[in-house]
Amino acid sequence: MSEASSTYDAVVVGSGPNGLSAAIRLAQEGLQVLVLEAKATPGGGTRTQELTEPVFLHDVCSAVHPTAAGSPFLSTLPLQQHGLEWVHPTYPFAHPLDDGDAAVAERSVEATAKSLGIDRSSYQQLFQQLSAHWTSLSSDVLGRLRIPKHPLITARFGFYGMFSADQLSTMKFSQAKTRALFAGCAAHSILPLEKAFSASFGLVLAASAHAVGWPFAKGGSASITKAMISYLESLGGTVECKQEVRTLKDIPSSRAVLFDLTPRQIARIASNKLPSGYKDKLQDYTYGPGVFKIDWALSEPVPWKNKACRKAGTLHLGGSFEEIASGEKAAWDGKHSETPYVLAAQPSVFDDGRAPEGKHTFWAYCHVPSGSTKDMTDIIEKQIERFAPGFRDTIISKHSMNTKAFEQYNPNYIGGDINGGAQFFKQLFGRPVMKWNPYKIPAEGLYICSSSTPPGGGVHGMCGLHAAETVLKNEFGKA
Ligand SMILES: Cc1cc2nc3c(=O)[nH]c(=O)nc-3n(C[C@H](O)[C@H](O)[C@H](O)COP(=O)(O)OP(=O)(O)OC[C@H]3O[C@@H](n4cnc5c(N)ncnc54)[C@H](O)[C@@H]3O)c2cc1C
Repeated sequence: MSEASSTYDAVVVGSGPNGLSAAIRLAQEGLQVLVLEAKATPGGGTRTQELTEPVFLHDVCSAVHPTAAGSPFLSTLPLQQHGLEWVHPTYPFAHPLDDGDAAVAERSVEATAKSLGIDRSSYQQLFQQLSAHWTSLSSDVLGRLRIPKHPLITARFGFYGMFSADQLSTMKFSQAKTRALFAGCAAHSILPLEKAFSASFGLVLAASAHAVGWPFAKGGSASITKAMISYLESLGGTVECKQEVRTLKDIPSSRAVLFDLTPRQIARIASNKLPSGYKDKLQDYTYGPGVFKIDWALSEPVPWKNKACRKAGTLHLGGSFEEIASGEKAAWDGKHSETPYVLAAQPSVFDDGRAPEGKHTFWAYCHVPSGSTKDMTDIIEKQIERFAPGFRDTIISKHSMNTKAFEQYNPNYIGGDINGGAQFFKQLFGRPVMKWNPYKIPAEGLYICSSSTPPGGGVHGMCGLHAAETVLKNEFGKA
């Protein structure tokens, strides 16, 4: 990868949102960038396919995009000019309960708090500031590890975020309904809700619902990929599909290589370039539980018992805080819950291009032990029926994926882990290896830009941005 013989300035391996973000940031500086993608289509976790029936467009992985819409990097890109449109549901998310009531997150903190009875002022006190200062907060929380640029709001977030979701919700909320609402957000972390820092995920996600909303990408998540590639190409970058990288020899010569991959693949591909201590750490990296997902084609919208749920983009199913916590702990402990926390989304209710007229798509998954092959279809459908009796009568057809299918679909989903590695405290900040600059691999010209680096999983492109900034500084002297 010597400078003189370089064909490209940089090659990115993998075209997920972080790979594309890294490529865009480098191309913005006028560098010649190539993205190599193993599969026939680009996008990694942001692809859309007719998984069930013709004309039913299903998001294979990500569907709900608070972190993309609120990303300090993606929000600076002209993606709207390249075809991306956000579709906002009436309510970002809702959490139905067994008595027919539901906790509903509205865009306004006040309106949400008002429906939470005696927790009204606690909710308002917790989320008013975090959402009002979202731009500052997200630039620190999703930014590089450094002294915060916005110490007041970040300290406030850090103080509450360091607790477990269990501790924080007990401290702040008196009602089971409010605790359940918070559990539904915190459980996106795929961590047991008793783990320190699990509250931080709940805080970021609930605050983002008020600050930026939880939108869908019109036409499906693939629209994010299309817009990013269109912008990248306008900057002179190129994406090549069906180019699986198995060894470093598969990569054209370039000054820098950025892997949008997880540690296990990097340890294999770059094996003979890595210092043994670093390679050992990559191999010791901890992956989290997996997911079992179902996509349905429906004859009509999901018949939620609670009417407000019909206006929410995302639904958190699982009842009380305690029930959700027990389901999440089970997946972490290698067990399958009979009543798991189910994350569901109904994009076609708000984006009518997702299904033939009058018909609908529905997306849901639950967390399962790493590597699980158990068919969770019946268990997930029972959880939906619990809050939407008659759901099964609306099913035209369905498509499911267990952890093995996910890993085959995208080699980054090791054991079905969708976050590029478990996100417990040490591995949240020190991923893939605890060092000052986690994006630099200790071998000439090699970098990592995937969600296996801070700030971790989700479609936000921030891992790609931070890796690209490191490349610009180290290889091209651009601070
Ligand atoms: C079921 C599911 C639901 C999700 N829901 C959401 C959601 O609603 N909102 C959200 O924000 N996030 C969600 N996520 C998470 C999100 O999709 C990921 O965090 C995100 O895609 C990570 O981006 P990335 O660029 O790091 O890697 P990826 O998106 O995983 O991209 C990596 C790319 O590298 C390619 N690749 C792998 N190996 C090679 C190789 N050897 N050579 C060349 N190419 C290779 C892969 O094919 C892939 O295209 C979900 C994920 C899943 C699976």
